[in-house]
Amino acid sequence: MSGRRPADVAIAGGGIIGCFVAYYLAKRGLKPVVIEATGIGSQASGRAAGIITPSWGPVPRELLRLHAATLRMHAQLARELPNLTGIDYGYELIPHVRLVLTAEGVNALKRWRSERLAEGATVEWLSPADARRAVPYLSAEPIGGTLSEIEPQCDAFEFVRAVARAARLAGTAFISGKVSGAAMSGGRVTAFNVEDGSQISAGSFVVAMGPWSGLASKWLGVRVPVEPQRGQLFTLSEGSDPTRGAKIGVWAWDTSGFILPKRIGGTIIGTTREDGVGFDRGVTAEGRRAVVANARKLASEISAPSIVAERACLRPVSADGNPLIGRVPGLDNAYLATGHGGNGIHFGPITGLAVAELISEGKPGTDLSAFDPERFVHAGAARGA
Ligand SMILES: Cc1cc2nc3c(=O)[nH]c(=O)nc-3n(C[C@H](O)[C@H](O)[C@H](O)COP(=O)(O)OP(=O)(O)OC[C@H]3O[C@@H](n4cnc5c(N)ncnc54)[C@H](O)[C@@H]3O)c2cc1C
Repeated sequence: MSGRRPADVAIAGGGIIGCFVAYYLAKRGLKPVVIEATGIGSQASGRAAGIITPSWGPVPRELLRLHAATLRMHAQLARELPNLTGIDYGYELIPHVRLVLTAEGVNALKRWRSERLAEGATVEWLSPADARRAVPYLSAEPIGGTLSEIEPQCDAFEFVRAVARAARLAGTAFISGKVSGAAMSGGRVTAFNVEDGSQISAGSFVVAMGPWSGLASKWLGVRVPVEPQRGQLFTLSEGSDPTRGAKIGVWAWDTSGFILPKRIGGTIIGTTREDGVGFDRGVTAEGRRAVVANARKLASEISAPSIVAERACLRPVSADGNPLIGRVPGLDNAYLATGHGGNGIHFGPITGLAVAELISEGKPGTDLSAFDPERFVHAGAARGA
């Protein structure tokens, strides 16, 4: 960093969260530096399904409250980022059909629909016959379903690339390196220590290391209870893609299987939710079997040989399911932006903006109280942990 203006903010982690924090800081005239261990967007942020939806698995209620504002941000970014960067990240709005295959699923889907209607969205209820008409390839006998056109999607890797390029154009520096500790003085962080022996000094520090964020517990002296959860996704060959080019996302609401045609990268099926596998990012035969079995409930023509590409990545899952966004308890100039579970692509923009506002203006424009890292300090103290 010698010879250059020192950074105002050092960010550990160049996934979607770290890149959005950097983008909104740089837009405010601050100079961020992102330190990334394995490549920008090389982990979950670049491998996710890229759905910007209020129904991607269990979304905590506190996050759902930010959904409408986040959708508006995504629509604005879809105009802004391709213009700024020349990167088309495959943003598009396609219809989604959600199907219930068991009686137990009906009430849950009806509840989901009422919530969306209350937000002003149009979500049609489908009879079994309507569902079969909407999804001609359907092999299952659905009990009911919904049809909506309220969720955008994108290619996650191109999205991170666009945000990173926009951040760079606005003045962010990117450094390859693995942050391995923090230097402290007088209740403040003064530098991130990097594994190669260098130190990155800055005025403020952000930990956005996704599922690896727990490692910062030692450096910062606070609990950062974030664990990896593996998810596997598979791409279908053109010949065995049941959608035959029809742009409609189809979900088995009860089993969380989905078939999703993407403008970039073909049609994908997913996914698994595997806890307790540590940082193992390998695709497994068992994962493939489970995902194919769920997809076959929707389209019986899908089989293991239909798969032409596979990937696995790690969701950063916090102890209570909500992200940790805010100041590190007891430290004036350190912040956490992590623990977004299966929703980081969706809530990346609002997280980045809120953290940038918190650092530059002392107060976020969004109420972050539900995500305050402080909640784990008290939970730990109460249990004597
Ligand atoms: C199969 C699957 C599908 C998904 N689909 C969706 C979806 O459709 N929509 C959605 O909203 N979300 C989805 N998600 C969730 C989403 O991918 C994550 O919530 C999001 O990517 C988390 O972003 P992040 O920046 O916090 O973490 P990451 O993407 O993990 O980025 C953290 C970065 O920090 C770096 N790092 C780690 N340790 C260090 C260190 N010591 N020093 C420097 N750098 C370090 C890593 O290399 C990494 O690049 C999906 C997840 C999975 C697994």
